[in-house]
Amino acid sequence: MTKKKKWWVPYFNRVIDFVFTSFCPICEGKVFKDGYSYVCEECLDTLNWVRGTRCKLCGIPMAGIDFNGITCANCRKENLLFEEGRCMFVLEEKARGLIHDIKYHGARMILRDMPGWMERSHGFIEYLEGKVLVPVPLHRRKLGKRGYNQSEWIAHAFCKAVGSNVKVINALKRKKNTPTQTELDRSQRKANVKNAFALRRKDHLSKEDNIMLIDDVFTTGATLNACTQVLKDDGFQKISIATLGHG
Ligand SMILES: [Zn+2]
Ligand SMILES: [Zn+2]
Repeated sequence: MTKKKKWWVPYFNRVIDFVFTSFCPICEGKVFKDGYSYVCEECLDTLNWVRGTRCKLCGIPMAGIDFNGITCANCRKENLLFEEGRCMFVLEEKARGLIHDIKYHGARMILRDMPGWMERSHGFIEYLEGKVLVPVPLHRRKLGKRGYNQSEWIAHAFCKAVGSNVKVINALKRKKNTPTQTELDRSQRKANVKNAFALRRKDHLSKEDNIMLIDDVFTTGATLNACTQVLKDDGFQKISIATLGHG
């Protein structure tokens, strides 16, 4: 049963949004733009957007290589099971701050800037077209505590920015309430997420779907790989991944 919303909640949210979107959190300058924008255009331009050639599996830019389809040294160390991957930007201090705001402070309004982000990350819209976006799930206990799943927000922001031929399906669940990966090294990350995920229901996805797993950040790919394993074990073949940041 859904809780009935109080009438003043949308108005209250607008005031909160106005306060948050009136100043760019990076330069703290005032933003005068049509509609909502969280980060100003000038600051957005300073983020390290992925534009050219990149690793086929994680999307990190690879300078000096004039063809796509090869993988970076990091991805070669992992036995990554998904076919393709992309990220929008490389995580430097400013981008890290934005993701932190979304993930830990519930600043969903940041994701309203998604159309502007898509313009800066060349080819990202085309990459998402026709895909079924499956967010990396949180364990229900963590979800209860945080109140939202940032990967789900990101998937919906992608979906909205691309349009009608993309959908979001929460097809996975997290069985194990694993500790955060932040402090762990490569092999610990892998062990931490082993057998952590499962399909929620078999009929959520069809075998023909072009599944794209969505997460906030790509680090070693361990989490996304563990999710891919679950899908592959159940006979799903076409699996790719997309994240906001890499690092
Ligand atoms: Zn700014
Ligand atoms: Zn890579």
